Amino acid sequence: MKLYSTNNKDLRVSFQEAVFNSLPTDKGLYMPEHIPQVDPAFIRNIQQYSFQEIAFEIAHTLLGEDIPATDLKKIIADAINFDAPVKFLDAGTAVLELFHGPSYAFKDFGARFMSRVMGYFSQQGDKLLDVLVATSGDTGGAVALGFLGVEGTRVTILYPTGKVSKVQEEQLTTNGQNIRALEVNGTFDDCQTLVKTAFNDSELNSELRLTSANSINIARLIPQTFYYFWAYAQLKTQGIQDVVFTVPSGNFGNIGAGLLAYKMGLPVKHFVAGTNVNDTVPRFLQNGQYEPRPSVQTLANAMDVGNPSNWVRIQDMFHQDLEELRRKISSYTFTDEDTKRAMDQLYTTYGYIACPHTAIAYLAAMNYKKDSPGEYASVFLSTAHPCKFPDAISSDVFEHVILPQGAEMLRGKPKLATELDVDYTAFKKYLLKNR
Ligand SMILES: *Cc1c(COP(=O)(O)O)cnc(C)c1O
Repeated sequence: MKLYSTNNKDLRVSFQEAVFNSLPTDKGLYMPEHIPQVDPAFIRNIQQYSFQEIAFEIAHTLLGEDIPATDLKKIIADAINFDAPVKFLDAGTAVLELFHGPSYAFKDFGARFMSRVMGYFSQQGDKLLDVLVATSGDTGGAVALGFLGVEGTRVTILYPTGKVSKVQEEQLTTNGQNIRALEVNGTFDDCQTLVKTAFNDSELNSELRLTSANSINIARLIPQTFYYFWAYAQLKTQGIQDVVFTVPSGNFGNIGAGLLAYKMGLPVKHFVAGTNVNDTVPRFLQNGQYEPRPSVQTLANAMDVGNPSNWVRIQDMFHQDLEELRRKISSYTFTDEDTKRAMDQLYTTYGYIACPHTAIAYLAAMNYKKDSPGEYASVFLSTAHPCKFPDAISSDVFEHVILPQGAEMLRGKPKLATELDVDYTAFKKYLLKNR
């Protein structure tokens, strides 16, 4: 696979290059130079294959010879080692649960695949790969648990003290091995600034082999296509062919992967994006003006994004054509009040406990169904387990959440975190001293 930059279509880089330097210098994003088609016979018979077999087929179609088949199979077997089941709430509505991985959020798919690809491309004898990541909660856990024990890599996670939930903090700080947590006396933005400053520090870069686990890395996007195909396969075993996917969206990486799957030949009738009040994309689809705004804090905080970084990829796949986009994507925006009501409604109607992000997807799916009724399966994506968001869920509902076994096990483990002030010199000193 060769990739171009969305800002320079004459540029060509290898997959390996795009994995280690996730951002082209022209500030575009990497995209495959052409989107390969999955063998139509494979799609016709997709219900015969397992999740891992499907993941391999899709990855192999995209990557070609970048990773030889036997190695790619091993990477997939190791990375995609948990299910993404489709569960029906009623005859026409189902939820695709993406939270059965180690950090209980869909970001596990991206992080696990990317970490193994990075490990694979890091030749023996190479300098240790130093992954720096700032997190407001979910990304850090997925990256920590994704890279845990991956040879040749070390991860440093910066998180804002007091601003992540208990389960999230435990996932960040109880690992040891090649994972280090820095508890920053500041905000998420402060963490992000420290990390960005490090990437731009030439002295530091000459000492350490730094890389980012950024959500725009192409190796995080690719594995997110797998579960769209797998969901389709599960529906097909039930004789269902027409599907609408509704995706709770922040940076638009998840729905972007769905659209990539569609462009590779997956038959999807329509996509719906649900957002919180950070509604840059819904406003764009309405009036054609892309006007990013500073992000606003909401209950669905993993979607508090004012300028969704993956949107340019979607625009690129749709040739910057607003009408073409509108034919395939609808979007709806919801307030925190809407979100709370939806979480309560999901519990009282179906006995289903959803995290706030998932509740927004549910609302968007219901709105689309009202606006465009028809004979299709409405599948909304559940992006995280509710146990990660105790403050966003009403206590009457939250008390019924069953903690996954793994989260239970983290409870007794000691916290391993180093406190850090918002002070770049101190951060740099820490990195150089502890290697
Ligand atoms: C990251 C995240 C999202 C948003 O996904 P994007 O790919 O950024 O659109 C939604 N829900 C949860 C739980 C997340 O962690």
